[in-house]
Amino acid sequence: MEKKVNGIVIRAVSYGESDKILTIYTLEEGLVSARIKGVKKAGAKLKACSEPFCFAEFVLASSLNRNVVTGASIYDGFYGLREDVVKFYAGSVVLGFLRVFGLEEADKNLFDFAVNAIKNLTYSDVNPYEETVSFILSGLKAAGYEINAEGCCRCGDEIENMAFFDMKSGAFVCGDCAEEGDMRVSLSTYKILKEASGSEKTAEFSEEKNKGLIKALKFLSYYIEAKVSEGIKALKELTEL
Ligand SMILES: [Zn+2]
Repeated sequence: MEKKVNGIVIRAVSYGESDKILTIYTLEEGLVSARIKGVKKAGAKLKACSEPFCFAEFVLASSLNRNVVTGASIYDGFYGLREDVVKFYAGSVVLGFLRVFGLEEADKNLFDFAVNAIKNLTYSDVNPYEETVSFILSGLKAAGYEINAEGCCRCGDEIENMAFFDMKSGAFVCGDCAEEGDMRVSLSTYKILKEASGSEKTAEFSEEKNKGLIKALKFLSYYIEAKVSEGIKALKELTEL
């Protein structure tokens, strides 16, 4: 049986002498794995669609739950990402997120968030750290692990001085309501996550701002590991560049 899916390659692993196994995050079926033949040979027709970030309509021949890529029309390879190391790692965080949180079922929201984030990183003048924070927050929400940064989750007041975090409910807590077991988080991380949940982005690039964003990304990395045990390697790398 042959089928067409729209997807982005999130991982490509060598298989045998000349093939690869692709993990593709698709609009129609979520995570799909497919073998692509002969792509390690020079001049192979499908070579360009066997690399991470390739966004294409893939033609898959499938039998007994095994897929083979037999054709592809590329929408975008996002090659520009490779010219900026921070943007490249930020894009890799998006792919890593899909691998960790993607399911084998359609999730149009998560798919759109991911493609838009990669487009923004490649073509817009966004701060890559900020774009990553904002993608992760949207992605976590789509995946059912939403972080609530709208004031204190217990008394409802705005958090002004000390911020804490209740890992279990994924929500911030003010200093007055904090209980044993809540985690102390820097106020700047709370504020960054609160702002990033809103729509306004500043496209500011100061070193000071990036420091805060990197701290917030470290917090998100910690949160993801606590929730799903498997972390996102590129996220750690992005915070250590
Ligand atoms: Zn409170």
